[in-house]
Amino acid sequence: MTADLLTEALSPELEARRAAHLYRSRRTLNGPQQPQTQVDGRDLLTFCSNDYLGLANDPRVIERFQQAASRYGAGSGASHLVSGHSAEHHGLEEELAAFTGRDRALLFSTGFMANLGTIQALVGKGDVVFQDRLNHASLLDGGLHSGARFKRYQHNDAGHLNRLLEKTSPAASVNHHNRRKLVVTDGVFSMDGDCAPMQPLIETCQQHNAWLMVDDAHGFGCLGDNGQGLGAGFSQNEIPILMGTLGKAIGTSGAFIAGSDALIETLIQFARPYIYTTAIPPAIAAATRTSLNIVQQEPERRQHLNTLIAQFRTGAQQLGLTLMDSPTAIQPILIGDDAETLSWSHKLENAGLLVTAIRPPTVPKGSARLRVTLSASHRAEQIDRLLAVLADIAQQRGVPEVVLP
Ligand code: PMP
Repeated sequence: MTADLLTEALSPELEARRAAHLYRSRRTLNGPQQPQTQVDGRDLLTFCSNDYLGLANDPRVIERFQQAASRYGAGSGASHLVSGHSAEHHGLEEELAAFTGRDRALLFSTGFMANLGTIQALVGKGDVVFQDRLNHASLLDGGLHSGARFKRYQHNDAGHLNRLLEKTSPAASVNHHNRRKLVVTDGVFSMDGDCAPMQPLIETCQQHNAWLMVDDAHGFGCLGDNGQGLGAGFSQNEIPILMGTLGKAIGTSGAFIAGSDALIETLIQFARPYIYTTAIPPAIAAATRTSLNIVQQEPERRQHLNTLIAQFRTGAQQLGLTLMDSPTAIQPILIGDDAETLSWSHKLENAGLLVTAIRPPTVPKGSARLRVTLSASHRAEQIDRLLAVLADIAQQRGVPEVVLP
């Protein structure tokens, strides 16, 4: 097929997406992502990065990165099981295990791959995977591609999960092992900012002998007194499969799974996205070790972030905007209509603020939103500036009346 024929075949879908105001496009940043960045020569104040603790540009993290790059080179050169596993990777895995109170931790190149690889290594044909209906795409894809029966429960509804588990009779097992039941949830929901109800989920899983996997991508580093995340205070027996990412609050890149020795060995043997990919650069692992240390040594970052969250929520509610039930750095403003959400996002950008519009299929139809994310690198005046611009837009366009489906 020629490139022209390929274009002809692909164009209608692209056009349909554009017509529906759902077309996705990228911006090219020309400097640090946060709190201030440069896009097309303009300085913009950003409220859309996941660098929740402002560590991506911390001079100590950068210095460690540079030192390790000088020693190990720019890349790892191979997968972990070939020759890509350096002392920096190994040290980081040990520190992540100690920090999360697990036997061991295993590094993956991205969170998406950690989720795909873990779910597929743990369940397959004859098993059942249960997922919160608002779980991240990587968890849903992992479940869908695993070959296990796939069941979605209502968002954060442990009662509904319980009913689904009750209906899954162990006698119907068709596999060599007893039918496995894996329950999977986001810890902090990436587009809503709310938290999974850990205690009810743990109890439900224990009652039904189901395995619980928590993706704490957005809680890790931010939540818990010490930054251990939503899983803080829950043991390996309560959350046996804990996933965290390093590209958000930790400010670097990559992800990990923490749990028992048997879990980690199973992933090393069977998780294809672990086995067949290049390890993250050792310099990233080294920088992450410094970052992880700062997370533990500087609780004031989390305290400052929490103060900003409270400031934003109070201000936005006074404007009559619809927020979600979120205690975290993710503070979406519900607008509802796709085109209207884009329009708010453009107006914010014209005023020098970068806030992304999130539309279906990332979120359910009719619930398009501005995904505001806050960071410890923001100052109180910058939150005031965001609120002032939102107030102006609300005055011009009216406060959106959101009717959720
Ligand atoms: N899980 C959740 C809940 C996420 O929000 C994300 C990233 N947006 C991921 C997993 C994937 O992590 P990564 O970006 O490291 O691939």
